[in-house]
Amino acid sequence: IRWTEGRGWHDAQLVPYAPLSIDPANMTLHYAQTIFEGMKAYRQPDGTIATFRPTANAERFQSSARRLAMPELPVETFVAAIDALVTQDRAWVPSAGEQSLYLRPFMFATEVGLGVRPANEYLFIVIASPAGAYFPGGVKPVSVWLSEEYVRAAPGGTGAAKAGGNYAASLVAQAQAAEQGCDQVVWLDAIERRWIEEMGGMNLYFVYGQKDGKRRIVTPELSGSLLPGITRASLLKIAADLGYEVSEGRISVDDWKQANADGTLTEVFACGTAAAITPVGSVKSTRADWTVADGQPGEVTMKLRRALLDIQTGRAADTHGWMHQLG
Ligand code: PMP
Repeated sequence: IRWTEGRGWHDAQLVPYAPLSIDPANMTLHYAQTIFEGMKAYRQPDGTIATFRPTANAERFQSSARRLAMPELPVETFVAAIDALVTQDRAWVPSAGEQSLYLRPFMFATEVGLGVRPANEYLFIVIASPAGAYFPGGVKPVSVWLSEEYVRAAPGGTGAAKAGGNYAASLVAQAQAAEQGCDQVVWLDAIERRWIEEMGGMNLYFVYGQKDGKRRIVTPELSGSLLPGITRASLLKIAADLGYEVSEGRISVDDWKQANADGTLTEVFACGTAAAITPVGSVKSTRADWTVADGQPGEVTMKLRRALLDIQTGRAADTHGWMHQLG
């Protein structure tokens, strides 16, 4: 679907996947006006297909567009585009277990010019690709590298938007994490470099309490510079449904280290569309390394993971009205 200043959205088309031809002076190549979403379609037990919370993705896409001075795609148009592609590609939606059809809606400037200003022409596209189970060999905890040198996003910046530039800014720290033998980066706030924000492509949750006692679950509050994950928002509801005390708050690196050392922190996990939920097993930083609790996937982590995936794959009742049925 195209957008042109003075004309609005026009020319919706469903076409076979193919390369695009880009002008060397395309504004996106120079000034990075590009935003995207990540979402999934799941095969349901009766063979039908459903997407998970597409209106939430559509709304986050609109808020990303506002931050990047791009036009807002109406929620209904976003959802209709997803529906049209999934319907066309229905044979590509896998049917086994945690497999899905991954969907990547994105928008970028198509205007040609080198002046620094919001573009007057954009293209919105959705592509799809079948995705296997994230953990084909069973859930395995990830190791994380605390990024103290670089920050992903700062107050007033684009951290709360799903903008390409945020990921460009994060690649050097991801490479450092790999050099340190870690799977993922954990980002801290830009001002004090002490508050936990999120992981490279997932939000974080901390579980406190005694092994057989009541659990308290906390996720970093929306600081303005972390991405408001749809999985994160869904888990606030699911955790409450399962009877856990769950809240949003501020967690510092020192709190994490301390609670881990005194045994009050029992689990840490990350959540996002790609993995649903993944346990965090160990932490590495320039100052200290530690194993999270016993380093194994925790009971609350696995319970929440099951509950979320059961809703998405149609094995549990959709009590929040999150599943968008495509028939
Ligand atoms: N944070 C970042 C930086 C991400 O890229 C993602 C993936 N979209 C998330 C968090 C998790 O968001 P969601 O649950 O909507 O996939």
